[in-house]
Amino acid sequence: MSFVSVLHSLPRRKHKDFFGRMKLKLRIIGDPILAAKAKPVTEIDDELIDISQDMIQIMHHSHGVGLAGNQVGLLKRIVVIDFDAPTDDDGNPLPLETPGEKQLIPLMPITLINPEIISYSEEKCGFEEGCLSVPKIYANVVRSSRVVLRTQLLNGPTVLAECGGFLARVLQHEIDHLDGNIYLQRVSDEDMKPVQSQVAKLLRKSAPRNFKIRKLV
Ligand SMILES: [Zn+2]
Repeated sequence: MSFVSVLHSLPRRKHKDFFGRMKLKLRIIGDPILAAKAKPVTEIDDELIDISQDMIQIMHHSHGVGLAGNQVGLLKRIVVIDFDAPTDDDGNPLPLETPGEKQLIPLMPITLINPEIISYSEEKCGFEEGCLSVPKIYANVVRSSRVVLRTQLLNGPTVLAECGGFLARVLQHEIDHLDGNIYLQRVSDEDMKPVQSQVAKLLRKSAPRNFKIRKLV
């Protein structure tokens, strides 16, 4: 069989590549999939493992620290996270304060399956967030300082642990994506002012004409 006839005999499915793997593409604000709720993962199979590897690759390639299923066009409750352990100005590691940080940061990059936050601290803090689906825009978001996370790890046990620091921030941002929310929805009107024109410009390019940021604050 010639190469050409092999090509013609292979099934051509719209969202799969030549090798039958899911084609993942970073989605930008305005894409309806970012506003949809992702569905629980029911089975960890080879396809999911491939997807997780592809998501980690896309995250690294785009210099992100986290990526959720919706952001690559996949309505599955899967999140990948990778960032360096915190250090002081001299590069010495800072102590990790919560059990979740101690458990998860050494394992990064990590893939969380069906992650959920089961409680939020009343104490909150602000931090400038960015998002691969909202390119080159950064704005202050107030979130809980600590959360209790329950999740399955792709290649490990179920984790139930309190998480603080940057991990708490990333988890809240990524799990928001799975629920169809983007961090700009949590930016106060005051904090939105400095980026308003950048956001408007991006939306003109990426979103349908009647698109509105549905505020959660
Ligand atoms: Zn994001």
